[in-house]
Amino acid sequence: MRRAAPALLGLALLLALAGCAPRAQTASVFAMDTVMELTAYGDRACVDEAVSLIHALEARLSVTAEDSDIARLNRSGGGEAASDTAALLKRALELCKLTGGALDVTVYPLVRAWGFTTGEYRVPEDALLAELITKVDYAAVQLDGRTVRLPEGALLDLGAVAKGWAADRITELWRGAGVKSGLINLGGNVQALGGKPDGSAWRVGIRDPFSEDILGAVSVRDAAVVTSGGYQRYFEQDGVRYCHIIDPETGRPADSGLTSVTVIGAEGVLCDGLSTALYVMGREEAVRLWRENEGFDLVLVTEDGEVIITEGIEGSFTPMGDYADKEIKVMRRG
Ligand code: ADP
Ligand code: MG
Repeated sequence: MRRAAPALLGLALLLALAGCAPRAQTASVFAMDTVMELTAYGDRACVDEAVSLIHALEARLSVTAEDSDIARLNRSGGGEAASDTAALLKRALELCKLTGGALDVTVYPLVRAWGFTTGEYRVPEDALLAELITKVDYAAVQLDGRTVRLPEGALLDLGAVAKGWAADRITELWRGAGVKSGLINLGGNVQALGGKPDGSAWRVGIRDPFSEDILGAVSVRDAAVVTSGGYQRYFEQDGVRYCHIIDPETGRPADSGLTSVTVIGAEGVLCDGLSTALYVMGREEAVRLWRENEGFDLVLVTEDGEVIITEGIEGSFTPMGDYADKEIKVMRRG
């Protein structure tokens, strides 16, 4: 009997602690063409508000919904944007510049010509692509406060950055509400708030572009892990695969030798914009951009199955499955 006392005391203590720890609140949402999973350790209201936020952002940013902010701006060649649409556009234009136009928020005429918005896929004629390319130029978009002006024929598409932006806004909302631990899973965009409730890091799996498995996991706290890949959305015609990421320079689906790009960093919208852009730019340019900038790390997978990571995640990335005994190249700044 006496021996059991410390054990019972321990158990009671554990139960008391468990009582204090916030419970996991979860929600599943289908929005932005993606199955989304939210987990926050806090009040139910935090998750409910995040769901409302996602729907509100989608209603404003969707390029296809007729009454969205973006559709309205596209119809009228500009106008007054809602303040958060303007804030996202401002950040997105900075990222277009940073990537030398590999990310281009005016790529929509091309995206539409390939049928990626409607699902009515087709390979456009060269002449049409040549004409549409002349409409694509983020540098010609004028943004003055909330006032947007688009040149003739230009159409905005914030699809490459919307999920990263949404995850940043949810993170902000949860931080403000005192949430210490949460995970926002928006398909290819995963964003962690804090670590797990037990204090350990979140482990985020990165899909193997060649199978249904994961190629590895990265341990993160307060970071986004965003993957863009040619295997995510594409169509095939006459044995050729056409992916939904367009190279604004050629007007055609990106074909840079990379099959997946994962960007890890504190800012979701940066990681989202870069994952799309670096997929267009290819390995050499991606590594160059990484060397010249701070705030993110990379996991690149080439079409030949080579895996390249940057030194910042050397200690937190664990290759798995087929990749566990493969050579992983580590890029260094020096
Ligand atoms: P996903 O939305 O599938 O996670 P991305 O973040 O890579 O993938 O964004 C791809 C979307 O961005 C496309 O569906 C298209 O609407 C748009 N897009 C395609 N190519 C570009 C580009 N070069 N620059 C900006 N946006 C692009
Ligand atoms: Mg993106």
